[in-house]
Amino acid sequence: MSKVQLPVYKNETVRGTVQDLTYQGNGVLKIDHYPIFVPNTLPGEVVAVKVTKLTKNFAWGKLLTIEKKSADRIDNPNWKYLQTGIAPLGHLTYPAQLKFKQRQIEELLEKAHLNLAVAETLGMAQPFGYRNKAQVPVRMVQGQLTTGFYKRGSHDLVPIENFYIQDPVIDQTIMIVRDILRKYKVPAYDEQNHRGVIRTVMVRRGFYSHQVMVALVTNGRALPHSTEITREISERVPGIASIVQNVNAKRTNVIMGPENHLLWGEPTIHDTLLGIDFTISPLSFYQVNPQQTERLYQTAIDNAGLDGSQTVIDAYCGIGTISLAVAKHAKHVYGVEIVPAAIEDAKQNAANNGITNATFVVGKAEEQFAKWQAAGLKPDVVIVDPPRKGLDEQLIEATGKMAPKKVIYVSCNPATLVRDLQRFAEQGYQVTKPIRPVDQFPQTTHVESVTVLERTQID
Ligand code: SAH
Repeated sequence: MSKVQLPVYKNETVRGTVQDLTYQGNGVLKIDHYPIFVPNTLPGEVVAVKVTKLTKNFAWGKLLTIEKKSADRIDNPNWKYLQTGIAPLGHLTYPAQLKFKQRQIEELLEKAHLNLAVAETLGMAQPFGYRNKAQVPVRMVQGQLTTGFYKRGSHDLVPIENFYIQDPVIDQTIMIVRDILRKYKVPAYDEQNHRGVIRTVMVRRGFYSHQVMVALVTNGRALPHSTEITREISERVPGIASIVQNVNAKRTNVIMGPENHLLWGEPTIHDTLLGIDFTISPLSFYQVNPQQTERLYQTAIDNAGLDGSQTVIDAYCGIGTISLAVAKHAKHVYGVEIVPAAIEDAKQNAANNGITNATFVVGKAEEQFAKWQAAGLKPDVVIVDPPRKGLDEQLIEATGKMAPKKVIYVSCNPATLVRDLQRFAEQGYQVTKPIRPVDQFPQTTHVESVTVLERTQID
């Protein structure tokens, strides 16, 4: 095998102009068409870079100096947020972040030869402190229990007190809990030897309710000084409503274990989304940016054109957030979701809100669509909110056969969205409005959007 001659070598210092920004937020420098990905660089910047890692098709580099800065750069003194992966776009001004997200969808459409418009990204007025949930790893650092964040792609803890994109009350809570754990000399978990007690501190705070839940994730059932720790947390954390011990005794990267013990207060907290009350337990999935989730779902609902007479399917419904928000404006809503606990929550949430025109089913959306179609269900509107891998072809085909007038596609991955739009076209569905990105995760590279498809071909 002959060795491929690469234009750069390891540890070489190269200089050049950054040409592009990848969907992961890395700048791209090209040497003889050979791409070098460099974190914390922006298009147009002239930089000096040390080549750190080589493969046949690309390399990684580390920024040494910026000789010419981009006008879109923010001098973020907290470089560690980029390093940790909390805020990979933290060095880009917010308007430029919104453009970057819009542009990503546009580029994927162009590559697929789809001539479709993308609207401006709906952003936040305050693109910080938005997360209503934190899961913070706890480790011993220089003999002291420490909370922080893992450096990107590693398990090295970077101590952090201000998490920048989390609700500030959550940050404050983490420090209070950390100090109490230090006071009682509770050992942090050690991944190497699987010893120690506290693995993670999980905190949630209702955006509207202001209720706080603290979950101490422990490596086994024992929690020394449990009574004192619980009492101090209950006295010192503002808005505390629930303190839970979650047991995770496995050697695993999964953060939470299956077992919860209530230490104090209620086993759940509440919050509202589009005026609907939701019960949130330690293990429930709940959207992390409530303000933008409301805008995303409102955009979807407004585009569905509901007047109370329609039958709606909400696929990938989770705990029923979209379904329950739609129920007020529809005759009946059918939700399908693969996680049984989420469907239990959805049913409970429907009952708590007095909603009786929603039916929730556990199952794979693609299989349930085929069943509904075979049973003769005729939805007027189908709303889908799939995970990153997008829609199964079977689901798109079953949708075509059920022939709803509209499909509203809520997407968290533009690449699979674009693929699926092409498949919908084969079923006679055309995009009838500019695709609308809604920024759910400011400072990060995640791109969420709403697309409206309408049936143009009547059999
Ligand atoms: N609309 C919900 C959740 C969207 S996240 C909300 O806003 O809260 C995507 C959801 O799809 C997750 O809850 C996941 O469990 C579910 N899911 C993943 N694969 C699925 C499949 N094949 N069929 C049904 N649901 C699935």
